[in-house]
Formats: sequence, C-alpha cells, structure tokens
Amino acid sequence: MAGEPQDDCLFCKIVAGNVPATVVRETDTTLAFRDINPQAPTHVLVIPKAHHPNAAALAAADPALTADVLTAAQAVADVEKLDSYRLVFNTGAGAGQTVFHAHAHVLGGRGLQWPPG
Ligand code: AMP
Ligand code: ZN
Repeated sequence: MAGEPQDDCLFCKIVAGNVPATVVRETDTTLAFRDINPQAPTHVLVIPKAHHPNAAALAAADPALTADVLTAAQAVADVEKLDSYRLVFNTGAGAGQTVFHAHAHVLGGRGLQWPPG
C-alpha cells in the first residue's frame, strides 16, 4: 500500500532508526539528514517519512505531504543560512536516482552552475 514502510528501503530504515543518519531537522511527517556523499558544503536530503518511490508518486498519492517536504526544505535552508540553494528531485534511474524513496536534495553553500549536468 502507498506510504507503507518497505523492508528493503534504505531511507525507510533511516526513518525507523535502523540505519544511522545525521539528522538536521525532523517534523511529524518529514526527516532531513546530511547526504553521506556531499556534493556541496550544504547537502541535505529531505524525505517524507512515508515511503513513496519518487517525487511524482508522492505528489500523486499525497499532495499535503508533498507540500510538507517543500516546507521542510525551506526550513533546512533557513537553518543552514542559505540565501540561494538548489532543490533537486532525481526521478528515475536515467536522471541519477539511486534510492527509490522520494527525497529532495537541498544543495547550497557554493556557486551552482546552470544548466546542471
Ligand atoms: P539519488 O541519487 O537522487 O537517489 O540520491 C540518493 C542520495 O542518497 C545520494 O546523494 C547518496 O549519497 C545518498 N545516500 C546514500 N546512502 C546514504 C546514507 N546512508 N545516508 C545519507 N545519505 C545517503
Ligand atoms: Zn522507503
């Protein structure tokens, strides 16, 4: 069922506390933690605690939770004192998605080129 924890999902394990993470912010519905392989001085992942495989599936299943993720991303940017930042939802393996639990990358703290690679 949409939203249920998946045994084989790394980010569900982080939500459950079974895999450690450096949490920077938590709400009832979202978790934000530092990316293990940072691509910028600030690189935080914001996830819905409920399992959805990607941002599109999340948006279709739960618009309110999708909004919670965006609100949490802005809160991370505030705490990290980012005037500018990039929010990235890699969607599909061809776009670089490797963990199939919806997540927003919050990237900042350095100049960010546009267009991205
Ligand atoms: P994506 O490639 O968009 O699916 O993003 C997955 C992100 O998860 C990558 O940037 C990884 O570096 C990050 N990642 C993988 N394992 C962990 C972990 N245990 N804790 C924190 N971040 C992780
Ligand atoms: Zn999951």
